[in-house]
Amino acid sequence: MQRVEHMTLWERLYFPEIIRGLFVTGYRFWRNLAIHTLHLFGLAKNKSAAITVQYPEQRIAYPDTFRGRHRLTLKDDGTVHCTACFLCSTACPAECIYIEAGEYPDNPVEKYPVRYEIDTLRCIYCGFCVEACPCDAIRMDTGLHPGNLGFSREDFVEDKKVLTERSRKLEEEGKDKLYEESVEKYRED
Ligand code: SF4
Ligand code: SF4
Repeated sequence: MQRVEHMTLWERLYFPEIIRGLFVTGYRFWRNLAIHTLHLFGLAKNKSAAITVQYPEQRIAYPDTFRGRHRLTLKDDGTVHCTACFLCSTACPAECIYIEAGEYPDNPVEKYPVRYEIDTLRCIYCGFCVEACPCDAIRMDTGLHPGNLGFSREDFVEDKKVLTERSRKLEEEGKDKLYEESVEKYRED
């Protein structure tokens, strides 16, 4: 956006620019409508028009690097890799990771997270937590969109149970099944 002092007189008149904006929007609308109609009759196949992905019924393929919802990775015995070192929460620019550390009764060296929570309303899905983790204990490779269904803040806080269960499901049932389950609620609503 330009500062007022850099605008031409024509732009400062305001209404010509509004009419120009309406013209651009109208042109796109009618062009898309005409091309989609022609496609229905098998014509103009070489011309492409804008499409709207009907999420969640349709989806587009995401790259493997897509940063989706978090998960806490698990060891073979089902416990978390996380050692509650706080590096992820220190690196997090949104300060949305809450960790409470605890000690194993039979291991005086290693700690584990008694509580591990991510406030996804504050999270900006930057991936710094994943980069900061020294033991690959947190990942964002689930391919899931951030959740946006809920009526209170608590509905958007993902705790250790949610984050580990997501890992378990991903390993047992795969990414596609995990995705299907996550959009089920949206379909019902
Ligand atoms: S993705 Fe970024 S904002 Fe979200 S929890 Fe990780 S570090 Fe914080
Ligand atoms: S997820 Fe990784 S960085 Fe965060 S507390 Fe656990 S071990 Fe440390």
